[in-house]
Amino acid sequence: MSDRPLVLIPGRINPRVRSRLAEQFELVEVADASAADCAPDILQQVRGAAVSGRFPAALIERLPKLEVIANFGVGYDGVEVKAAAQRGVVVTNTPDVLNDEVADTAIALLLNTIRRFHFAEQYLREGRWEKEGAFPLSPMSLKGRKVGLHGLGRIGMEIASRLVPFKVEIAYHTRSPRADVAYTYHDNLVGLAKAVDILISIVPSTAETNGAINSEVLAALGSDGVLINVGRGSTVDEPALIAALQNGTIGAAGLDVFAEEPHVPQALIDLPNVSLLPHVASASVPTRDAMADLVVDNLISWFEGRGPLTPVPETPATR
Ligand code: NDP
Repeated sequence: MSDRPLVLIPGRINPRVRSRLAEQFELVEVADASAADCAPDILQQVRGAAVSGRFPAALIERLPKLEVIANFGVGYDGVEVKAAAQRGVVVTNTPDVLNDEVADTAIALLLNTIRRFHFAEQYLREGRWEKEGAFPLSPMSLKGRKVGLHGLGRIGMEIASRLVPFKVEIAYHTRSPRADVAYTYHDNLVGLAKAVDILISIVPSTAETNGAINSEVLAALGSDGVLINVGRGSTVDEPALIAALQNGTIGAAGLDVFAEEPHVPQALIDLPNVSLLPHVASASVPTRDAMADLVVDNLISWFEGRGPLTPVPETPATR
């Protein structure tokens, strides 16, 4: 074996990550994170990893020389970061390079949900405009609405700045208020949901955020209310959301993320008041290329002794 560091890729990854890594490192690719199909003596030599998806503690345990895990995506809930931190393994993610794309998607999903453009286009494509006349008016409008952001971090700030020209009122809930914005702060999610009629969720999946958008929050949002989720599916109590959409507790929802991806409950698909996307908020070639480059550049920087470029807060930042 050459003296180039051995990097593990468990499961599928963006092809640009794979091809750029192959120029710099020896690669070992396994079908999935259980890594059962890989010889233990090879795993013993692995010093780095690039992952898009799951990286469980059991895999970290099987890699005694592992130094760094580069996660493809800003959300790193698939990586058991606590186990990595305990072993002194650095985890990196891909912040900032996707902010604009995800914020653009959030706005598109919001407009689609409120104005039902996806159904209107389907109507045209089915030839119904010519046969049946104009598409029915959308019951809702963005005009005069109050928008609440659940999360006002890197992406939330970009969503908020895109909302300003729409002349809507903006409020937010995070654990700590930001000193650098004038948007109205709410110290709890129910309070925010009561005060607004559109709730946009853009928080990470954590023990605290899991199930945070529950039946109480949905009831507070109200019958004219709209939920947009571009963060993580785990943040929403999905059965409670389906019930709320079915019985008119809220008016509509736009979702890019789901509890059990890629499975989307049939009950959601059957609803007329939802817009559903298959987790595509950052999914353009230029943005995914930038994310791929950051994954690879983190590993190169690490193995050249310059430390990680974008370590997550839970793992040490220096070599
Ligand atoms: P940041 O870390 O910059 O921001 C996270 C925000 O969430 C902060 O404002 C933080 O504020 C808030 N937050 C965290 N925990 C809580 C909590 N318990 N209650 C209320 N607010 C909370 O992350 P990004 O903006 O870069 O990304 C956010 C998430 O979006 C990612 O972790 C990822 O899961 C998701 N995402 C989804 C994509 C998609 O394809 N749909 C693409 C990219 C990201 P505070 O710390 O003060 O609470």
